[in-house]
Amino acid sequence: MKKIFYSILTCLLISCGSEKKSNNEVNLYSQRHYSVDKLQYENFEKLTGIKVNVIKANADELIERLKNEGENSPADLFVTVDAGKLYKAADMGLLQKISSNVINSNVSEKLKDVNGFWIPITYRARILVYSNERVSEDDLSTYEDLTNEKWRGKILVRSSSNAYNQALMSSIVANNGAEKSIEWSKGLVQNFARDPKGSDRDQVKAIAAGQGDIAIVNSYYIGLLLNSEKEEELNAGKAVKVFFPNQGENQRGSHINISGIGLAKNSPNKENAIKLMEYLTSKAGQETYVNNSYEYPANPNVSPSEIVKSWGEFKIDPLDLNMLGQFREQAIRIFDETGWK
Ligand code: FE
Repeated sequence: MKKIFYSILTCLLISCGSEKKSNNEVNLYSQRHYSVDKLQYENFEKLTGIKVNVIKANADELIERLKNEGENSPADLFVTVDAGKLYKAADMGLLQKISSNVINSNVSEKLKDVNGFWIPITYRARILVYSNERVSEDDLSTYEDLTNEKWRGKILVRSSSNAYNQALMSSIVANNGAEKSIEWSKGLVQNFARDPKGSDRDQVKAIAAGQGDIAIVNSYYIGLLLNSEKEEELNAGKAVKVFFPNQGENQRGSHINISGIGLAKNSPNKENAIKLMEYLTSKAGQETYVNNSYEYPANPNVSPSEIVKSWGEFKIDPLDLNMLGQFREQAIRIFDETGWK
């Protein structure tokens, strides 16, 4: 049913038929799920007159679609919240290399794809948040330490089917090896406050409700909660403090992931697609992201929002983000073997 719906939607949004011709438009297949995106694309349309069409679905559905549509695909850009899925799309031959001096100088060297198939638009850290009533900052240190017995029944995290957790586990496998990752997962599951359920926001709400003390969440959700108009969300945001794990001298830094874009292999509106990526990584585009979604900017000349800045700077795990795709299957196997639902 979903598939039929999307097909009809595509036909409405994008000229249907066998002949692919370039129009004054750009077609996005996007995994992003934030209200800032609409604003971003409206601004771009106003500036350039290029219409932005968006099809939203989860990354694997979009990859499947790109694959099935092949040369006839109307997609120009594949937008994700996970370098792992961009790696997967590139590995399947669904992307082409991106060449633009503007983008190249806009984005931070550290966040770039070494193979040139995708670009970062923002990044986010998968951090710890803790109850500001029941936990002291001094008791926290690393992701690894979350298996410590002192946290029995205290840890909140969403399900392992979620891409953010899969990317985190991939980073742990890449850094610590499979054996230690299995032990880590087992230890963490033992410390769960409840069976994994809900979104990242729901884990923070559960801390506020006293159901657990520490949650593993993406950084920007704290900014979103603290700026929410819903009282429950605002209260959840206020009940926790932010902690960046693995910051010690000999530690690797906190796990980050990018939200990024790949240029589709058969992009019919390639010029427009490049223009959009140039805009999104420009100062204006980046400021729209940081001030509305509380993500970190991919452009080092733009500062994070005030709230995000107030958390201070942190050391980033320098792992090649393509590893988040390369170790994905192994990560999923470890979840299954160790009972992380
Ligand atoms: Fe998200």
